[in-house]
Amino acid sequence: MNKLYDTNNIFAKILRSEIPCNKILENHHALAFSDINPQAPIHILIIPKSPYINFYDFTKNASINEMKDFWNLVNEVIEFVKINRDGFRIITNSGSDGNQDVPHFHVHVLGGKNLGRM
Ligand code: AMP
Repeated sequence: MNKLYDTNNIFAKILRSEIPCNKILENHHALAFSDINPQAPIHILIIPKSPYINFYDFTKNASINEMKDFWNLVNEVIEFVKINRDGFRIITNSGSDGNQDVPHFHVHVLGGKNLGRM
């Protein structure tokens, strides 16, 4: 366990089923659910089931199988909600400069309309 990981963050509670989520899909190592405050018609979060703080922590420390399952689930979500043709945006915020609110690694998948330029 990464000592800096906050086991009381909201996504850790979702993973422990202490609070509910609107689950979209899951596999052995990753879970996808709707963002509670959607910023686009489609706004889904994908998280690893193990405790990684951010993109850097995940990419540095996760196993190949965890990474494979994670990115496969991202792609399965994209297919499941049928945004592979019209497009989407994937965002991951990290740390204070990235304004990351929940310190459990996640990517936002946004789509369902033209999202404008960044
Ligand atoms: P970030 O700023 O990248 O850490 O984004 C955290 C995201 O988690 C925000 O978009 C929130 O709307 C979302 N969020 C917070 N609590 C919940 C929850 N209980 N269920 C689903 N999404 C949540």
